[in-house]
Amino acid sequence: MQGRINAFQTLGTLEGPGIRFVVFFQGCPLRCAYCHNPETWDMSGGTLYTSKEILEKALRYKSYFGENGGITLSGGEPLLQSAFAAELLRGAKAAGLHTAICTAGTSDLEGAQAVLEYTDLVIADLKFTTEEEYRQYCRGNLKRVLNFLHLTRQMGIPLWIRQVIVPTINDTPASAAALQKMAIQFSNLERLELLPFRKLCLEKYDALNIPFPLQAIPEADQAAMQPLWDIVNNCK
Ligand code: SF4
Repeated sequence: MQGRINAFQTLGTLEGPGIRFVVFFQGCPLRCAYCHNPETWDMSGGTLYTSKEILEKALRYKSYFGENGGITLSGGEPLLQSAFAAELLRGAKAAGLHTAICTAGTSDLEGAQAVLEYTDLVIADLKFTTEEEYRQYCRGNLKRVLNFLHLTRQMGIPLWIRQVIVPTINDTPASAAALQKMAIQFSNLERLELLPFRKLCLEKYDALNIPFPLQAIPEADQAAMQPLWDIVNNCK
């Protein structure tokens, strides 16, 4: 089987524990206003690879992975190509690698379940806590994401939840408290993280001739985020 891949990162440190080989899948059904990877949106873009080809690349770095590193599927949305993602992670597990996915959790549950069978860690974006915000800023659906998160709990897969904090949109104590409340219902939750909104992606938008919807919004200030961290740190 072949999958559409946008890029690889050989020694990633942000997408899971340890040092990781990160596979950025091509294609995403959402349009998050703060997306840093608009080049992954187009489902017909990217390059076709077999899972065997990708696994061979990843295994070249196995000696760097140590005890807890491994392979992470990111994107784009890796669950959009769920059959291919499942095949790739099945091979990775057979080769003794720790496996993780970074996902927005918007895939169909059957496809997601096939991938989760071979997943050691789910890193999920819970982008907002209301349907209205999901619709307005991501063209997404909160209910669908919550169904996916419940599936990870039912399958007992360790879960990290992340949210990008965007000034004037979700940078209030009430929003952080709503996130904390929503996240702790998942007993498999290991981490809840806040990521500051950044605009490092502006050049990509310019190159693709796509207007960046949050152009006028300032980047998130780390110090201003501390009270929000204090709220979500109550989670465990
Ligand atoms: S889910 Fe990720 S890749 Fe897709 S639009 Fe949102 S931020 Fe971008």
